[in-house]
Amino acid sequence: MSQSQVWHPFTQHALEPAIPEIVLTEGAYLHKADGTRILDAISSWWVITHGHRHPRIMKAIETTASTLDQIIFAGFTHEPAERLAKALVGLAPPGLDRVFYSDSGSTCVEVALKMALGYFRNIGAPRSRIVVMEHSYHGDTIGTMSVGARGVFNAAYEPLLFEVDTIPFPAAGREQETLDRFEAVSRNQHAAALIVEPLVLGAGGMLMYPAWVLTELKKIAEASGTLLIADEVMTGWGRTGTLFACEQASISPDILCTSKGLTGGAIPLAATLATDVIFQAHYSTDRKKTFFHSSSYTANPIACAAALANVEIWRDEPVAERIAVLSEKQAAGLQRFRDNPFFTDSRKTGTIAALDLRTGSSGYLAEIGPKLRAFFLERGLLVRPLGNVLYLLPPYCITGDELDRLHDAIEEAGERFG
Ligand code: PLP
Repeated sequence: MSQSQVWHPFTQHALEPAIPEIVLTEGAYLHKADGTRILDAISSWWVITHGHRHPRIMKAIETTASTLDQIIFAGFTHEPAERLAKALVGLAPPGLDRVFYSDSGSTCVEVALKMALGYFRNIGAPRSRIVVMEHSYHGDTIGTMSVGARGVFNAAYEPLLFEVDTIPFPAAGREQETLDRFEAVSRNQHAAALIVEPLVLGAGGMLMYPAWVLTELKKIAEASGTLLIADEVMTGWGRTGTLFACEQASISPDILCTSKGLTGGAIPLAATLATDVIFQAHYSTDRKKTFFHSSSYTANPIACAAALANVEIWRDEPVAERIAVLSEKQAAGLQRFRDNPFFTDSRKTGTIAALDLRTGSSGYLAEIGPKLRAFFLERGLLVRPLGNVLYLLPPYCITGDELDRLHDAIEEAGERFG
């Protein structure tokens, strides 16, 4: 569109003057105004799980909007929020009995960090350090950027970010270094929390580590009284093969963050789930112990109803089977690239597959992302590489033929850019 006054996220407008307009979304596709379709291979920034505009979610939105809109959530409640909280507590790893609503991935992580700090202050043993994993991403607010590690994205805001302790990413064969470092950091007992993306570090390049590392991190956290925050904003709702990635490590974090797939991706909503111990630390006749956080759109009833419909889809439709089939197809697809010299690594966890494209200089690396994006878009494919990392994180309705199309295009991209 020309003459647009819209300022888009993560967009350098000087380099991307033409931004396509989408007029319809359906299943795995975005439809452009000119009638052409784009296959959404990244679930529109990892939010869409079952496919765009799942009828059950759309119906729930419509029905709820006929009786409720936003309600102040301090001092008031409503049925969709109450029912959803019960459902989430039932689905999440055991022990996460309290649900605090917010409206985006970043805010539910902010809430988690504040809960951790508030917990230690309220029990009279203040701790202020947060331990983070190298290459992590937890959002774009100042707080969540502080616990993230994306150099170029954070650089402009550095003076505002708070200090953290960083543990290395548990790369294959170097897992023990991560565990040893965390043990050393937590020994001084100043760490309020360790925050991690369980099993897959998304924006850091779809970096994957085994579940046993998470199990061990939880043990170390427990031994030192450090809270474990699992940021399942991206990994939740089936992406890694199970409803929540923490299940694969057989752990219950102290705090779990969920958003994106919570509503099947249709409408913004987030939730921070916490143990009753953390809630009880804030439960007091002393007003100073109140959890001081709110956003105007907390627990939007229409969004809560959409999330309830998502929960029902998980209950009534063969979602787990769909995920298992997609996981197998992703694994088979990667086989194709095993001996391809243009790709230096391939990896997969659940429904997420990633390939590292062989690249030359680091300057080339910085430029290649937008070039690859344009290459795929020309072929009607929404693939948005993270630097030289090509990944597929599709909605669960994607077909084998559609995946084949994507693999063909990836092969071609290897030949063109590798
Ligand atoms: N945490 C993780 C692990 C994410 O992947 C993201 C977004 O991609 C966020 C937090 C931030 O979510 P949002 O973009 O909804 O603020």
